[in-house]
Amino acid sequence: MNRLDQYLEWAEQVHGHLCPGQILGVRMALYALELLGIEAPHGKDRKRLITFVEIDRCLSDAIMLVTGCRLGKRALKFRDFGKPAATFWDLQTGRAVRLLALESAKDRARELYPDICDPRQQQSLAYRHLPNQELFQVQWVRVQLPAEDLPGYRGAKVICARCGEPISFRREVWVQDGPVCRACAGEAYYQVEAIGDGPQGHASGPSEDHQP
Ligand SMILES: [Zn+2]
Ligand SMILES: [Zn+2]
Repeated sequence: MNRLDQYLEWAEQVHGHLCPGQILGVRMALYALELLGIEAPHGKDRKRLITFVEIDRCLSDAIMLVTGCRLGKRALKFRDFGKPAATFWDLQTGRAVRLLALESAKDRARELYPDICDPRQQQSLAYRHLPNQELFQVQWVRVQLPAEDLPGYRGAKVICARCGEPISFRREVWVQDGPVCRACAGEAYYQVEAIGDGPQGHASGPSEDHQP
């Protein structure tokens, strides 16, 4: 079994199905590793790479799998641009390459398999065999991150002056009362409805505004 097939089998297990996005993601990551000369992302090169993914879709799951870059290792960065693209940054050489999945690959899939009516099936077949140049746009780019965003950063935690929760990696915001967390600074994505796991904590479902 070749490397592509091995990864595809693994991707199918982890992701739950094998879809065109997964195939594209595996191809993209393998191509990026080849361009950067990184041979063993899960072995000797496992601390070399930081990957920025630009969409939260199947493609990014596959990229994560092949590169071994995960959130928990601080080696996976999500930049929510809604594009099927990713940047692979080699910390050892400083080189970074950004790959974008080309829309035209869908047309190529249709041309190659005109007898198959399901576009997903067309793409699943084509994305295994099309040359990299027909699947991806390649840009060599420069990337920088502040020290606190890099894996292995050590720094003191700060306690939020309003909610008392601890904040790592210099994510605090300074206001008049002192350092506060981003939630208390107005960026919260949630509203607290109840505290604790008592009955009232369980009673509240989606807020009533959303219930018809
Ligand atoms: Zn999928
Ligand atoms: Zn807070």
